[in-house]
Amino acid sequence: MKPTLYGLELEEAEALMKALGEPAYRAGQLLAWLYQKHIATLEEAKTLPADLRTKLTEVYDLAGLTFAEDFEGGRGDSHKFLFKTRDGRLLESVLISQQGRQTVCVSTQLGCKIGCVFCASGKGKFGRNLTAGEIIEQIIWIEKKIKMPVTNVVFMGMGEPLDNFDATMKTLRLLQADWGLAMGGRRITVSTSGITPKIVEFVKLNEGRVRLSVSLHSSIEAKRSELVPINKKYTLKELVEALDKIHHELKRDITFEYTLIRDVNDSDEEARGVAQIASRLHAKVNIIPYNPIREMDFRTPEKPRIDAFVHALEAKGVRVMVRQTAGREINAACGQLRLDREKPA
Ligand code: SAH
Ligand code: SF4
Repeated sequence: MKPTLYGLELEEAEALMKALGEPAYRAGQLLAWLYQKHIATLEEAKTLPADLRTKLTEVYDLAGLTFAEDFEGGRGDSHKFLFKTRDGRLLESVLISQQGRQTVCVSTQLGCKIGCVFCASGKGKFGRNLTAGEIIEQIIWIEKKIKMPVTNVVFMGMGEPLDNFDATMKTLRLLQADWGLAMGGRRITVSTSGITPKIVEFVKLNEGRVRLSVSLHSSIEAKRSELVPINKKYTLKELVEALDKIHHELKRDITFEYTLIRDVNDSDEEARGVAQIASRLHAKVNIIPYNPIREMDFRTPEKPRIDAFVHALEAKGVRVMVRQTAGREINAACGQLRLDREKPA
């Protein structure tokens, strides 16, 4: 398969132009057509000479994704988009429109190797990593479709972003660069299940501009290993110590995601443990009431239990937000749509 033009960085585009015997400024022109004008065919790139466009088409495809389908969420504030890759795989992205913000939730892998027991993305066979082009195109095609700028990006779709480290870091550069989407780092959040050494590397590379969210899900070592199997390799103790350093030495803010599952991790004991960890790190906690998945037995806690859990955290001075899983009606949590599609009906 040819490489794609979407996903190119300035340096790469300059090297490409040089190889084609073109002046360096053509690189900037090409990137503007891609990342600012979102062209869907190379013919639209009017400032590029026709023979250059032909040469480019010989070695590159323009894009790696096409729209397959999209679905409106029941409440009308979320929208799910299904894309098809050139190798015929499906992937999904979700748009959440709230308070004037257009947030796109991107996928970084086809499937996920981490295999958290409550998550649809972790079920089934791992497909492959997405390229930086395929990650950024999710944002570009949605922006083009809704005719409004995407204001925020969260890496919370299918896949573990830090397990596809290079493509994720490249996407972050494409998002933030002047010649790219020119988006402020504070509008971007990377969520991870806790690949500790990669978190440290990510923080160093991004100098704290991009927000970091860590999926905690339990304050108890053995329980976390059951829910998030990577905990056996990078233990909670090790993770919290690394985050402590990141917060206190590098002065970075940390947010925790906590998927609250009935009778699994919603006890008072857990609430006390989570409060302890969050207080130590001055971290904010986002509670995500479990979004039920058809083939799994886990359940969402009743409202009073969610409230009690939240109050227990607040009583210890922890900042808490309950995230109503956006687009619950359209199965908009992590990876569920693809799971539905790729199974015979
Ligand atoms: N792999 C990364 C990012 C994608 S998942 C990570 O795990 O952080 C984004 C968030 O959705 C994670 O916190 C994940 O635990 C949560 N999640 C996955 N399945 C869910 C479900 N069925 N209900 C609620 N939250 C879920
Ligand atoms: Fe992968 Fe995140 Fe789902 Fe765990 S929660 S299986 S890390 S996508």
